[in-house]
Amino acid sequence: MLTHSRLIALQCHLTGKKYSIDQPIGYAPDSQQPLVAIYDTRTPLSRDILKDRKHDMWRYKEMLPLMDDQNIITLGEGYTPILEAQKLAELLNIQHIIIKDEGNNPTGSFKARGMAMAVSKAKEWGISQFCVPTAGNAGSALAAYAAKAGARAHIFMPEQTPDVFRMDCQVMGARVTRVQGSIRDAGLEMTRSEGYPDWWDVSTLKEPFRLEGKKTMGYEIAEQLNWKLPDVIIYPTGGGTGLIGIWKAFHEMLELGWIQEIPTRMVAVQIEQCNPVVKAFKNGWDYNEPYDNPGITIANGLRVPKAFGDRLIMKAIYESKGTAIDVTESDILQGIQLTAEKEGLFLSPEGAAVVMASKKLKETGFITQKETVLLINTGSPYKYIENLTL
Ligand SMILES: *Cc1c(COP(=O)(O)O)cnc(C)c1O
Repeated sequence: MLTHSRLIALQCHLTGKKYSIDQPIGYAPDSQQPLVAIYDTRTPLSRDILKDRKHDMWRYKEMLPLMDDQNIITLGEGYTPILEAQKLAELLNIQHIIIKDEGNNPTGSFKARGMAMAVSKAKEWGISQFCVPTAGNAGSALAAYAAKAGARAHIFMPEQTPDVFRMDCQVMGARVTRVQGSIRDAGLEMTRSEGYPDWWDVSTLKEPFRLEGKKTMGYEIAEQLNWKLPDVIIYPTGGGTGLIGIWKAFHEMLELGWIQEIPTRMVAVQIEQCNPVVKAFKNGWDYNEPYDNPGITIANGLRVPKAFGDRLIMKAIYESKGTAIDVTESDILQGIQLTAEKEGLFLSPEGAAVVMASKKLKETGFITQKETVLLINTGSPYKYIENLTL
């Protein structure tokens, strides 16, 4: 069945140049910048289409890139709960804190959204070999969706990645290569591989559709909050797809008339020992400088020395009047402990970074007492256990 997708073209966010959606293309060849999917938002589309649909991320199919339902590769991703965190709110003296818990996704993180979309669309394009460098969760997600699609996955991960991720990928039939250094080194090793030219590279923002999968978080946030957006969204930023995706979704919904305004300030959270976005924000830059020798962290997903979509991250922060802030390793452990005790929620280290960022932002006055603050817990902690000492 046709999805009636409104996808029109892929566009270089920097030059505005448009590219056809009929054949595979990863990123803009001239500018070497990410491509973003653009949709027809002029033809009216009522929110009522959502009424009787299944509670997964495919319910927004008109605003997603897939043309034919039959190409959907799904493990039940999306439509994760938004939980009230009342005790945490009292403790931080913020009126309303809510947590979107992405730990419930297949393969244990919100990477499932992006990979479900990227693999499904690649299937529609006739692609059957994938590759990705990963801090862990992206590899798990790619391995699972590739297995479901009957495709092959080649996964490159830093040696320091918890071993469960290797096992997870291999049990799904993926080929795993371990690399010394950070995710950036893993990416370099990948592009030097003999098979590389024949593999579809699903590195963060080097193809346009993981972003479209992650964007569904933005649609869900609006729908689950009855079309009234929170004042602040706090997001643990590595490659930045979630932050960029949520911001993109808000603008699409505004164009469609699904929401009337976007009051939300977007906050990027990083770790002190790898904080290129924070440094750029402090300097007012619209790009990131690569971070040299990122330190070891328990928040693997945040160890990204330079995001390919750095300009899009900075744009979302500036446009939304947001900010960028970093936390320490001991902050992260404290955030895990605190949220577990107060809310019965065992957060991923990345999610715990967000909790502690909200505390600091309240102290600095960026967040005021009366605001509604949405924290994103991007994954489950259970694959990181060997990193944690609690
Ligand atoms: C990948 C990942 C992140 C960072 O997400 P980006 O979209 O790359 O910024 C945060 N938390 C977890 C658990 C992750 O797996």
